[in-house]
Amino acid sequence: MAERVLVVGAGTAGLLAARRHSRRGAVVSVVESAGGWGGRVSPLTLLGMTLDAGAESFATRTDAVAALARELGLAGDVVAPTRAPAWVVAPDREYPLPTTGWLGIPTRPLLPDVRRVIGWSAAAEASLERSRPLGEVRDDATVGSLVRARLGHAVAELLVAPVLQGVYSRPIDELTLAAIDPTLPQQLRDAGSLIALAERRRRLAPAGSAVLGIRGGMWRLTEALAAEVRGAGVLLVAGTRAATAERVDGAWRVHAGGGTLVADTLVLAVPQAEARRLVPALPEPPAERRVALATLVLEAPGLDAAPRGTGVLAIGHVTRAKALTHSTAKWPWLREAAGGRHIVRLSYAVREPGEDLLAHALPDAARLLGVDLAPSHLVASSLVEWPDAAPARVANRRPLEGLELVGSAAGLSGLAAIAGAEAVDSPA
Ligand SMILES: Cc1cc2nc3c(=O)[nH]c(=O)nc-3n(C[C@H](O)[C@H](O)[C@H](O)COP(=O)(O)OP(=O)(O)OC[C@H]3O[C@@H](n4cnc5c(N)ncnc54)[C@H](O)[C@@H]3O)c2cc1C
Repeated sequence: MAERVLVVGAGTAGLLAARRHSRRGAVVSVVESAGGWGGRVSPLTLLGMTLDAGAESFATRTDAVAALARELGLAGDVVAPTRAPAWVVAPDREYPLPTTGWLGIPTRPLLPDVRRVIGWSAAAEASLERSRPLGEVRDDATVGSLVRARLGHAVAELLVAPVLQGVYSRPIDELTLAAIDPTLPQQLRDAGSLIALAERRRRLAPAGSAVLGIRGGMWRLTEALAAEVRGAGVLLVAGTRAATAERVDGAWRVHAGGGTLVADTLVLAVPQAEARRLVPALPEPPAERRVALATLVLEAPGLDAAPRGTGVLAIGHVTRAKALTHSTAKWPWLREAAGGRHIVRLSYAVREPGEDLLAHALPDAARLLGVDLAPSHLVASSLVEWPDAAPARVANRRPLEGLELVGSAAGLSGLAAIAGAEAVDSPA
């Protein structure tokens, strides 16, 4: 009898795992609690436009997502964002981020766009970093401690902190270098200095944009993936939440939608807190963080010139929002589709579930974009809340017999990491 595989969660990771198991001949079913596929890569309809409700791009540090797009027939629709710097808005100043850097670490601190932000003397201090002995680098060294000690306070606060806060939603003094990539502490020892490491990493990065998107929206990727797995005979069941899971007599019994599903292999493709709820033997994850995304459609000619490039990172509690993307300035296809209107996305760290963050969105957008925005400029808006902004990496993705953890359940964050892990697991 063919192996029975049950995947819980039809986000990117669940759909990719379903595809892998189906390709090796297993009988695969997927249960998804939401009404549709894609999880955090899902569509959002606003004023007849289909936008991204969550992820809107993918990192190009590996070819994994672009390769997936090619396999799904979307190669011709992979698009680069507009080339413009991101801005930082702080309580007392606003500035574009230098474009030559890695994680905000400037590879050439004396360049004018770096000097303008951190000043001459800080730039001169940072430029000497390469010639100073590295000393011991502990595996648990935080980015904050390393950057402050070696490149100075201004580089840490004005360049590195905004970039990492935007990506990892964590202060640099709580974020270890190893949390970004477990091999980084050793890479730093090998490179001998932070600037040399940043240079190496930039050299290794593929030429062109650090992120890419898909014309029409990233949701098209999970839509195409769901269509492919369904075409391959995988049973996709939406609107059905896995309530409990238990291992009985060498098989998993999962209660969902009023029935019981039996599987030899259970794949958990849900946020970590939900994975632990279903299988209490899993280690306790860190306290769940929630993020919310406010999408605004604006009729505001003041934004036509894209005053803050493609987006803004907010620091020093300048707004309740932590970041803003001017989506119609970032994606040429969206600018065309929006017909002269502007689409702006603001991301929030949720303090209380269900908080009315839309009440902040318009004033936050005005502050971060540096333009006056009145309620009359706002044509439509939407708020979507998501769990699990920063899952913890797990050492073992097959912690129990017949159990596999993928995507955020495995502590992976971002499409590049998820598709990259899947590419490693899939036979060529
Ligand atoms: C606002 C936002 C913007 C982002 N932007 C980017 C970006 O631009 N680029 C990037 O690479 N990454 C981005 N990310 C991160 C990226 O979206 C996620 O890392 C990735 O989509 C997670 O995929 P996943 O399959 O692991 O989980 P999810 O997509 O969360 O899928 C989990 C699925 O499980 C379902 N589920 C949960 N519990 C149950 C249950 N008990 N039974 C059945 N189903 C259940 C959920 O409904 C969901 O569909 C963003 C995330 C957010 C929230």
